[in-house]
Amino acid sequence: MKRGALELGVDVNDRIDAFATFLDLLVEASGRMSLTTIRDESGIVAKHFVDSLSCLRSEVLNSSMSVIDLGTGAGFPGLPLAIACPHLDVHLLDATRRKIEFVGSVIEALELPNAHPHVGRAETLGRQEGQRGRYDRVVTRAVSTLATLVELSLPLLRDGGVLIAQKGPSVVDELEAGRKAAKLVGGEVEQVIEFRLPITGETRSLVLVRKTRSTPAAYPRREGVPHRSPLF
Ligand code: SAM
Repeated sequence: MKRGALELGVDVNDRIDAFATFLDLLVEASGRMSLTTIRDESGIVAKHFVDSLSCLRSEVLNSSMSVIDLGTGAGFPGLPLAIACPHLDVHLLDATRRKIEFVGSVIEALELPNAHPHVGRAETLGRQEGQRGRYDRVVTRAVSTLATLVELSLPLLRDGGVLIAQKGPSVVDELEAGRKAAKLVGGEVEQVIEFRLPITGETRSLVLVRKTRSTPAAYPRREGVPHRSPLF
């Protein structure tokens, strides 16, 4: 864990006990309910913990920002970010209650004051007063295609805010649709950062989409529509 994080430029020496407790809780809970397909400890460290911290490579994610993890599942990438960066204010959103209950139990066990669980859908939050336009950054991994992520994320961002989408090597296939969707919803694809993941050497990318103007009131469309009928 320490070596993988350090390769990404993140020092987690002081937080290693918290990561160890999270690992125990995840392994224990995965025996009872379906939370992650990766069950072995070294796989969880490399493919969940270190992979989550790779968001910090983007250099647009700084401490003291307000971040929402859209579709966090068992807490990725949001919980490793909240553990490693105590000054980051991290909100963890998922539509599935039992996943957020697990995330809440980890937050409680680790006494993380900077992590806040929410059950709900991004389509609903993106239309809610006090949530629309609230966040500096959206982070997200393994939730949907780029065009759908853009429609779900940009309404949640303040003007000038950035979506950081964690993607694999096939992101090139999604870029054109993502660019067109961003234009419609009030943003532009600013950068695609390609890199190899520490430990496994797998290819990953971060797509950065900046919100450049207010999102038109028509977006996000109603629950389920952005997934079923992507804008492009
Ligand atoms: N991000 C986690 C990870 O990388 O391990 C979980 C990925 S899981 C494949 C996708 C998650 O996104 C699911 O838990 C699902 O409930 C959630 N999700 C999908 N669409 C959503 C939406 N519109 N609003 C909130 N959560 C959503």
